[in-house]
Amino acid sequence: MSASASSGIKAIHHEIFEFITSGAGEALSAHEILTWGIKNFAPKIALSCSFGAPEGLVLLDLMHRIDPRSRVFVLDTGRLPQATYDLIDRVRERYDKPIEIVFPRAEDVEAMVRSRGVNLFYESVENRQLCCRIRKVEPLRRYLAGLDAWVAGLRRDQGVTRGETPKLEIDAGNGGIVKLNPIADWTHDDVMVYVRANDIPTNRLNAQGYPSVGCDPCSRAIAAGEDPRSGRWWWENPETRECGIHAGEEDQGSGI
Ligand code: SF4
Repeated sequence: MSASASSGIKAIHHEIFEFITSGAGEALSAHEILTWGIKNFAPKIALSCSFGAPEGLVLLDLMHRIDPRSRVFVLDTGRLPQATYDLIDRVRERYDKPIEIVFPRAEDVEAMVRSRGVNLFYESVENRQLCCRIRKVEPLRRYLAGLDAWVAGLRRDQGVTRGETPKLEIDAGNGGIVKLNPIADWTHDDVMVYVRANDIPTNRLNAQGYPSVGCDPCSRAIAAGEDPRSGRWWWENPETRECGIHAGEEDQGSGI
């Protein structure tokens, strides 16, 4: 892939574009999608792992088996729980793999909390989206600008905003790079079968009722049978409960 200086949108090789837009990726397994991605884009492809849900750890394991040099990054918002930092260290040791930690701009965080307070997100959707935009969306976009493709652990049964997730897409919101969602058609049970079969390290908060763990102040445990996404930004409507880092979720930011 090459960057177009005029538009900021990356040019995609014709054959890759055709393959993605044809929908042919839907017939491929997660392993096949990742193998295709690594073959076409390495080293400019990386996994986005929150270290808060088992999906990202499953993908990390799958990618590492295909190519031990495969890259993984995490957005460190500065508000992650200790359990997540502990898991990052465990994974780094187990796989002997560098984890690329991406931080928000310090000056943006300082200006935000000085003007709106350290717990601004509870006060309004606007504040919450601003916080997510500064702590997550901007760092993600900045990091992705150096890539040709990224990998995410979205699954279609994770909630109302993710039901149409394709396995391969062009990420127009992030410079037109390729986005791989290799386990889009996996169920939660599929994920947990892989976790148990391969002894994948997971966030200890998952066993305490957190299906996914984001920032500490914006994540909570849920009861059995509740929508998994209801543990995030629970004080808002379901339609606004997304992080803004995935296309179609929202364009004004929010949290992973
Ligand atoms: Fe801020 Fe909460 Fe979004 Fe984290 S999830 S960036 S603390 S609003």
